[in-house]
Amino acid sequence: MVKDQLTQIYTQNELSCMATYSIKAVYHKLMGEQSAVTWDKIVWNRLSIPKHRFILWLAMQSKLQTTAKLAQYGISQSDMCLICADAKEDHKHLFFACSYSKECLKQFKEWTSITSASTDLQQLIRNIQNGRRSKFQKQILLVGLAALVYLVWNSRNSSYWQQSIPSVNYVVKHLKAHTKARIWAVLPKKLSTKDYQWFNEL
Ligand SMILES: [Zn+2]
Repeated sequence: MVKDQLTQIYTQNELSCMATYSIKAVYHKLMGEQSAVTWDKIVWNRLSIPKHRFILWLAMQSKLQTTAKLAQYGISQSDMCLICADAKEDHKHLFFACSYSKECLKQFKEWTSITSASTDLQQLIRNIQNGRRSKFQKQILLVGLAALVYLVWNSRNSSYWQQSIPSVNYVVKHLKAHTKARIWAVLPKKLSTKDYQWFNEL
């Protein structure tokens, strides 16, 4: 059954050539199959870094190859989280029930003054979208959240491939740096003084 699922995306030949799991290969495969219209809907925040946006999009649809999925396919013997080793590594756990990602999220919320207590990715996005902040500020929060999801997934992959997990400080430091650098690069021309000050003081 698992094989059947994989063959819906890959041909038999491609599967046999794919010795190791490769996010790059999956990325290109999926990108190739996306119609322009579908892809356009996904690109809901043009300010975010494309590779962050893509991982967020996969995470939102529970399409990342988590350890729980790899175990289901018989590729991994264990389904435990590669970061904390305390629970099954599925999407709900990684974003953000895991003690590691939860701490990263906590620091992200402190940085951006997000008051939502939610530790659920979908709920957080809804809370940001329905919040009372300006459109620009909401976009920044989503850019940051996309960066956070990307970096947590990166930590998980680092554990998988390099057997080393970046510290929470590393993740938070890069999260802030990526978000600020990206926004400076694509800063909208029409920006209220209030929004500019808010961002400048981040
Ligand atoms: Zn964990």
